[in-house]
Amino acid sequence: MTALRFHGPVLPGGEVHDLFVVEGRVTYEHQAGAETIASGWIVPGLVDAHCHLGLGNDGEVSKEETEQQAIADRDGGALLVRDCGTPADTRWIQERDDLPRLIRAGRHVARTRRYMRNFADEVEPADLAAAIAQQARRGDGWVKLVGDWIDREVGDLTPSFSAEDFAEAVKIAHDAGAKVTAHCFGRDVLPGLIEAGIDCIEHGTGLTPDLVDAMAERGTALVPTVVQTEIFPGLAAAAEPKFPTYASTMTDLYARRRETLMSAYDAGVPLFAGSDGAGNQRHGVLHEEVVALHRIGLPADVALGAASWRAREWLGFTPDLAEGSEADFIVYDADPLADLTVLARPAAVVLRGTLVG
Ligand SMILES: [Zn+2]
Repeated sequence: MTALRFHGPVLPGGEVHDLFVVEGRVTYEHQAGAETIASGWIVPGLVDAHCHLGLGNDGEVSKEETEQQAIADRDGGALLVRDCGTPADTRWIQERDDLPRLIRAGRHVARTRRYMRNFADEVEPADLAAAIAQQARRGDGWVKLVGDWIDREVGDLTPSFSAEDFAEAVKIAHDAGAKVTAHCFGRDVLPGLIEAGIDCIEHGTGLTPDLVDAMAERGTALVPTVVQTEIFPGLAAAAEPKFPTYASTMTDLYARRRETLMSAYDAGVPLFAGSDGAGNQRHGVLHEEVVALHRIGLPADVALGAASWRAREWLGFTPDLAEGSEADFIVYDADPLADLTVLARPAAVVLRGTLVG
């Protein structure tokens, strides 16, 4: 098998190397006769920490459409995807060497009629424990809760379950060896989940200074999905006639989103990048989230690390392209740390040691 050769600064360190790929692994030992593939800035495979494969706007989509979503993510440089809930059985993706590595969270667990239709396993409190146990078995070490959603009787965002029920759910998942994450827009749902030892918060627009300190202390991660929160003004406008309180809650969360995210960063909360891809229009766009994290105030290396080396380490992968590591990386024509928009144009994508794009 011919070795492949790449040349250029290898991030995050930035030292210039000849990087060779032999049998799916990285080596810096010179390989005579290697085929030179590309020169440029070499970045460890990107990680989409919040994505949904097999999900469209109305629920589960076909296997063909799911495959197109995964290919779009891969071609955008996302070589490891943490799926944050899907009704589809996507285990077949894990048998395909040409598709991104995938960590699944099973199906979202939500309160009855308190989430997007056809997405979640919708349950009442009495059935929450069994649903969590089931999804812990179905996933790859993660369970996804819908922490809060509009309660049409109250006319505002409210937690899906009581703090006691959430604490029990987190314990059941942990006892089954699974970590837990939750969709959380508002504040009220957060204290109980953080106190219960939840592992990650998705969106987290309701975070306050006391809560980010508690997260930092416990090492609770945050995937802020900055691009996705751009839908808040639209949600507020659509809800205004019937649910004015909810509309004003969403408007307020949106207005404070920069301050909220920067307080989490300043407190030391581990942050990761998620595209919230669902439906074909939102796949292959992780680079937009990295740019958005930077525009909102994170330094470029923090924003890119949140979508690459730090996220890889968080999910149990080799963070950097060390000798012997999996050959999952992207080559760019220019330095992404000088201009993150370069991430939209990979010059070469290498997955499991094979040039795929
Ligand atoms: Zn999502």
